[in-house]
Amino acid sequence: MAKCLVTGGAGFIGSHLTERLLSQNHEVVVLDNLSTGRDSNLDAVRDHPNLTIRSGSITDSVLLGEAAHGAEVIYHLAAAVGVKLVAEDPLRTIETNIYPTDQLLRFAAQGNVRKFFLASTSEVYGKHPGDAWVEDDGLYFGPTSRPRWAYGCSKAIDEFLALAYHQKYGLGVTIGRFFNVVGPRQVGNYGMVVPRFVESALKGGPVTVYDDGSQVRCFGHVSEVVDCVYSLVENDASAGSVFNIGSNQAVSILELAQAVIDKIDPDIEIRFIPYNEAYGADFEDVQRRVPNTDRLYEFAGQRPAMTLDRILDDVIAWKKAELSL
Ligand code: UDP
Repeated sequence: MAKCLVTGGAGFIGSHLTERLLSQNHEVVVLDNLSTGRDSNLDAVRDHPNLTIRSGSITDSVLLGEAAHGAEVIYHLAAAVGVKLVAEDPLRTIETNIYPTDQLLRFAAQGNVRKFFLASTSEVYGKHPGDAWVEDDGLYFGPTSRPRWAYGCSKAIDEFLALAYHQKYGLGVTIGRFFNVVGPRQVGNYGMVVPRFVESALKGGPVTVYDDGSQVRCFGHVSEVVDCVYSLVENDASAGSVFNIGSNQAVSILELAQAVIDKIDPDIEIRFIPYNEAYGADFEDVQRRVPNTDRLYEFAGQRPAMTLDRILDDVIAWKKAELSL
């Protein structure tokens, strides 16, 4: 049993991780400002005797220090996330993603912290042209005049920082690069395609595909992703390394739209709109994003493998309940 801090613990992935940690008898402090997370995400565990919920921002350095006090394991998930949010407010992205990570790492290196999990993102690969991305591949960001890349760059700086703390102070840092994680509690407000498609379809459509829908992604179920995070942190050999965490089953966005429609109502229309209508001018998308998960499998003993079919059933069931349909 360990004392854990989960920043972003009321978020989509964070709340699932918090439940997982509590189920393993760990003590959990959640720090979340409910910017993209939701209070209701923790409803199932709110009264758990091992859970403390602190409401506030990781950019409040006093609060961050207090929340981290006594922690033995830190899961740092709080960040400005979502392509749409990032495109709209790159300054907030940079400030939220870099300075608090540095503070938390410094605290961890000086204190009692045994393990530090840094949530990173497949965005750090940028527009990598390869088929299946490997953790030691180079990074391919677009120009600084395009705000999207601020997100990947900010998380890449976090990774550099975390690895430097590992190297210099021996801090047990494990970095997980999340690839398109989906499942119950994910909301579509900040771009995420699966909840957007499901919600639009349940409301009668149309489903809106950006550009021509030939972009390729892999969708991993949050329950499997959280299991992988936990297993990595439990394995001391993962310290000092970066891991892709996601599914490697590739699907185009148009195929995804079709799969959602087939499940909900085959008569629903697909509407195509250009990127500039969706995200404003100067937006660049990533055409293909597929992880190589061999390292994850080696160190976690598992990798996300749930089929898209089952994932969509789960998301649809959750969304229906949420919309009271
Ligand atoms: N997308 C779409 N319609 C939407 C939202 C997203 O066609 O309503 C596309 C988006 O352009 C991208 C893919 O779906 O190519 C995945 O988008 P998301 O924001 O979920 O994640 P990303 O992989 O871009 O981080």
